[in-house]
Amino acid sequence: ASPTAAPDSVTIMGAGLVGSLLSLYLARRGHAVQVFERRPDPRRADVHEGRSINLALSDRGWKALGGVGVANDIRQVGIPMSGRVMHDVHGNLTRQPYGHEGQAIYSVNRGHLNRRLLDLAEGQTGVQVHFGQQCLGIDLKTKELRLRDTETRQEHTAPYQRLFGTDGAFSAVRAALQRTDRFDYSQDFLDYGYKELTIAAGPGGAWQFEKNALHIWPRGQYLMIALPNLDGSFNCTLFFPFEGPESFAALQTPADVTEFFTRVFPDATPLMPALTEEFFAHPTGSLVTVKCFPWKYDDDVLLLGDAAHAIVPFYGQGMNAGFEDCTVLNQLLDQHGDAAWADIFAEFQAQRKPNNDAMADLAIYNFVEMRDRVADPRFLLQKKIEAKISTQFPGRWVPLYSQVTFSDTPYAEAWAAGQRQDAIMARLMPHIQAEADYEQPAVQALVQQELAQQPAR
Ligand code: FAD
Repeated sequence: ASPTAAPDSVTIMGAGLVGSLLSLYLARRGHAVQVFERRPDPRRADVHEGRSINLALSDRGWKALGGVGVANDIRQVGIPMSGRVMHDVHGNLTRQPYGHEGQAIYSVNRGHLNRRLLDLAEGQTGVQVHFGQQCLGIDLKTKELRLRDTETRQEHTAPYQRLFGTDGAFSAVRAALQRTDRFDYSQDFLDYGYKELTIAAGPGGAWQFEKNALHIWPRGQYLMIALPNLDGSFNCTLFFPFEGPESFAALQTPADVTEFFTRVFPDATPLMPALTEEFFAHPTGSLVTVKCFPWKYDDDVLLLGDAAHAIVPFYGQGMNAGFEDCTVLNQLLDQHGDAAWADIFAEFQAQRKPNNDAMADLAIYNFVEMRDRVADPRFLLQKKIEAKISTQFPGRWVPLYSQVTFSDTPYAEAWAAGQRQDAIMARLMPHIQAEADYEQPAVQALVQQELAQQPAR
């Protein structure tokens, strides 16, 4: 028979970004934390990290990292991006600030962030991380994990008392909950995939495009983005249809790739010396939205992060949302005390589900914006007008992007406010042909009238 878990022990499945941060939060509250992770320890010298991948970290993420005292460390190796720079097919650039002066999202290296969180977790009394342990299944009744050691291929079991599933978009913990009664589940794949590529550093490690910006090549039906690295290079991601005349399926040879990139991304392609090798060596990723409910099983199991709510990456919020899960769980533990798991789990999913559903919708919305709308001069004019309204009525008009990215306003509230703002702009923009039109008395009167009808924030 397997030994019984100690009374105050918690188990976390998955030591990715959310699982490693969660282990810190729970250990600092005095819980004994066992973490199981399928991959080998990424800090081991013989483990090849693979490609360098960057993520955009914003306010919700910083708040969660700040809660365990690591925000400053990470900020030192992050690159602030204060705006987006759009590259048109002729290489002309248009810059759009993300927020007001001093606001930025940060480009951080996924591997670095994960390793740093793991260092801290293992340095924290009470945390034990077991690498190379893949969860194969869970017996929810006997509260037992079925694990496989990925080196020896041996299977074994381990008991748990309280299990947190942070094992990502294709979670094994969620798969166990899926077999319980009335568990809702959906997964939606976009017809788009993604490919990670590199813009090389210039001479002496110089950035060949503006360093402090997220670069976008919007092309209507597809787009490429690039985030800066500390070494002067940029990580690019091409978001591209799987099928069709311009698609992954259509680019079969190095010559196809070179011809296509030179034609549609003429300013970037000469700076991508490894383009064709990377294009064929790197996998084509798929893009999925996962929704499910409930996120808990009794007061034994709780899902967080991508395991509960995977979203497409176009708002740069997946990790931020998962980190915010940790902030909220910690607040609920503060409110209810560390033994009231039933109340905490119930309240956690009641609070987080509508917000993460809203974030999933926002991510799809931003896909269309980045792919298509940011290349439209009318849309850019609209964004300038919105910025003017926001400056004239601070607090009464906070742009949607800022609410999502530079605040911790619940995502559902931000989304509702954003939809109201979109409706207002649809009524206002027919009266505006140029930036200066905003000052016209008729337009000013309309803005005043529209804002007077807004619910107080
Ligand atoms: P993961 O990071 O997926 O970690 C899950 C962990 O569980 C992994 O370590 C995995 O090895 C382990 N695991 C999985 N299955 C098992 C098993 N059976 N047994 C044991 N262990 C297991 N988010 C942002 O906030 N900003 C961005 O700019 C951004 N850009 C993105 C770009 C792309 C192309 C993609 C695909 C995503 C992006 N995201 C971004 C989303 C972000 O990557 C995820 O939201 C985040 O990684 C979720 O963290 P997680 O810990 O929940 O899951």
